[in-house]
Amino acid sequence: MLAIPVAAVLASAAPALPIQERADRFLELVNAAYQGLCRVEGEAQWLASTDVTPAHDAASETASKAKAAFNGNPAVIREAKALLEQKAQLKPVTVRQLQRVLLNAAEGPMTNPKLVAARIAAETQQASTLNAFEFKYKGQPITANRIDDLLNTSKDLAERLAVWEASKQSGPALKPGLVKLQGLRNGVARELGHADYFALQVASYGMTTEEMVKLQDDFMRELRPLYLQLHTWAKHELAKRYGQPVPKRIPAHWLNNRWSQEWPGIVEAAKLDDFFKGRSAEWVVKAAEQFYTGLGFPRLPESFWKVSDLYPLKPGETRKKNTHASCWHVDLETDIRSLMSVEPNPWWFFTAHHELGHGYYDISYTRPEVPHLLRIGANPAFHEAMAELTSLASSQAPYLQASGVLPADFKADETAFLLNEALTQTVPFIFWASGVMTHWEADVYARNLSPEQWNARWWQYVREFQGVEPPAPRGGEFCDPATKTHINDNPCYYYSYAIATVLKYQFHEHIARRILHQPPQRCNYANSKEIGAFLRRIMEKGGTEDWRQVLREATGEDLSTRAMVEYFKPLMAWLQEQNKGRQIGWGE
Ligand SMILES: [Zn+2]
Repeated sequence: MLAIPVAAVLASAAPALPIQERADRFLELVNAAYQGLCRVEGEAQWLASTDVTPAHDAASETASKAKAAFNGNPAVIREAKALLEQKAQLKPVTVRQLQRVLLNAAEGPMTNPKLVAARIAAETQQASTLNAFEFKYKGQPITANRIDDLLNTSKDLAERLAVWEASKQSGPALKPGLVKLQGLRNGVARELGHADYFALQVASYGMTTEEMVKLQDDFMRELRPLYLQLHTWAKHELAKRYGQPVPKRIPAHWLNNRWSQEWPGIVEAAKLDDFFKGRSAEWVVKAAEQFYTGLGFPRLPESFWKVSDLYPLKPGETRKKNTHASCWHVDLETDIRSLMSVEPNPWWFFTAHHELGHGYYDISYTRPEVPHLLRIGANPAFHEAMAELTSLASSQAPYLQASGVLPADFKADETAFLLNEALTQTVPFIFWASGVMTHWEADVYARNLSPEQWNARWWQYVREFQGVEPPAPRGGEFCDPATKTHINDNPCYYYSYAIATVLKYQFHEHIARRILHQPPQRCNYANSKEIGAFLRRIMEKGGTEDWRQVLREATGEDLSTRAMVEYFKPLMAWLQEQNKGRQIGWGE
């Protein structure tokens, strides 16, 4: 058979457009429609989050369906695929947009509308089971917040055990929906040629499932010596607190977090609350904006202050708002908003910095050179890393002194700061995120782990990676993984948080050592235009370049825990001293 050049075939169907021009025309249409639909969906979701009513929920779902119908449209998929067949002749930024079109489409490919509808219905049902679930404690309903309060405060092990067990009640109720979703999510992913849903999600990183799991294993291998020291120190502290013999593994109900993902409340860190007395909530948000304007970024758009929902409801206000802090880029242009409930305390001070970190990422890539489809982080973890970096920078004593929160003569207990940071945000978190969450979800989606084995596999990973064990055997009648929100509504994504944690220390170390020439454990970002230029160079690219290249250009380094290990070196030395003569870790 004669080989007919593809261009000739196309020429017979359409006027002979050079391939780049054909792609430009297609993407102009797709970008415009995508931006319009994001705005409509964003407005609807905003309303549903700031005024929770069934009508607003329904409107938001309709807007999401409209967006999905366009994103997954068969004609859009066909043209993107056809163009990508000639990607050698296309500009790299064109190829990236076309790949993004296909990744967006893969979440709801209308090439199989029945399957997509079944998935949406199952997701909606699962969310409603999750949100409406009523936990019971001593025969009475108990809220999730109350469960957390009790785990944060109770010193009575019998009470802790009962509350911890209550927190696992939702698992069996959520399991049937999750079993259904295992098949539906994989089915949807296969529609566009991905092996399974896990493979589809890691495709945003340009990685395979095996590569992602290996990356997460590398994180854990490199951080393991530090984790074992922390684990040993923590279990001795907790055994003392509860008057118990020191166990090999930490019983899950000894820790304050329901999944042992963070270990707060073990160390009394420097209490900063007093320094916020007499401040206003407005001052907190302005201070976070000042962090960025000091680095040379523009002020937040006027509309931010008008449309955001920043403070707790006033007495007498009857609407319900979502309590989770977030930042929104509603129209992918200048409409940046934040949803918070800011009060003048340290937690909201760091959170406001975190959320504006997202906002300034959005502001930085909103420019004509970055098409709407690529107004995203370099990878999903970059956005979170930038936000977390701001939060870390805003929590260090020299910055707090420069911004007037702490007095100039404040003496920080550096070990307590580091210990608290490690326990509550970073080190045990990696073993939960990279270890338990990533491995279990890879087993479920990529390896089709059968539901009868779900709970046993979950606890096998908790024992193996976290060195934590259940207070009593957890049989197959439970489904403890389903008690974690992300397992239900944000599947195969959690490794992103681990990557963000690792990235944060890489950026921070670069700034501390190369720009500020200050020790990474205590530095002051305030008013450094050079830091601003460094961050802007990363953020203004959005998703137009491969994230590995962006990282290498910015820091001269590939993704690595090296900076994180370095950062905690003083803590490591202190822990080794405290743990002298103790058995380190939990054995096999
Ligand atoms: Zn965030």
